Amino acid sequence: MTKIKRFLALPVLTVFSVMGFAYYVTLFVFIEDWVGLQSSAGSLNSLIFTFLASLCLFCFFLCVLTDPGYVPSSYVPDVEDSSDQQPSKNDAQLKKCDKCSTYKPPRAHHCRVCRMCILRMDHHCSWINNCVGHWNYKAFFLLMLYATIVSSYSMVMIISSALKKDWEPDGRISPKIFYVTCGVMMASLTITLGTLLGWHVYLILHNMTTIEYYEAIRASWLARKSGLSYRHPFHLSTYKNITLVLGPNMFKWLCPTSVNHLKDGLSFPASRDSS
Ligand SMILES: [Zn+2]
Ligand SMILES: [Zn+2]
Repeated sequence: MTKIKRFLALPVLTVFSVMGFAYYVTLFVFIEDWVGLQSSAGSLNSLIFTFLASLCLFCFFLCVLTDPGYVPSSYVPDVEDSSDQQPSKNDAQLKKCDKCSTYKPPRAHHCRVCRMCILRMDHHCSWINNCVGHWNYKAFFLLMLYATIVSSYSMVMIISSALKKDWEPDGRISPKIFYVTCGVMMASLTITLGTLLGWHVYLILHNMTTIEYYEAIRASWLARKSGLSYRHPFHLSTYKNITLVLGPNMFKWLCPTSVNHLKDGLSFPASRDSS
């Protein structure tokens, strides 16, 4: 299986090591030092933490193993009005990829790493050794969400344990260094993941991909120069934008496998159609 080979990359293996290390120290060092794993508070916290960490790991597997969405070789753009009255519209619909020499559906982009056109491409992510696109974007977003929760949780456990620990009598320096190192590591991880999560919350609320965000900056600059204003064509309403990514059923928003709401990824509702 070629998909399995995606795991054989240094960044992916690094993610596994960091996850494994964070899980191990949170449970067997910090919760153990704080209240003891056998206590009711200890076992409850380790149970919740294990559940969240498993969700995180599951999302990670999904992100790596799910194909982001490739353009079918039979794809031909659906040009409704073939009359030559709107040449600009037809030109836009007939975008071709130079490298794949196939038509590019709206929101699709060519990934230089995957050497393929990716549907609703967000970006190529080395940490999952895969592109983030139409079919694995929800899993990617939930991975950011659960990873932020897990690292914040771990942070709280480190602080709780450090506050309760009796540092005085022993006088050994090594546990202190270990605590500080882990604390700094988890804090930077939490800030990084939290920032990335916030960024993708912003993108979802505006129904944008990372690529489209940068395209929009250029497009609005060009529009301003000619006295116009730019509006992202796929921005419907905030709530509708959320449902297009996470699904119409609010109770399934946090479920990474619930992706039945996703259409083929070859066309997307634009604000012109809905209003
Ligand atoms: Zn291409
Ligand atoms: Zn890629």
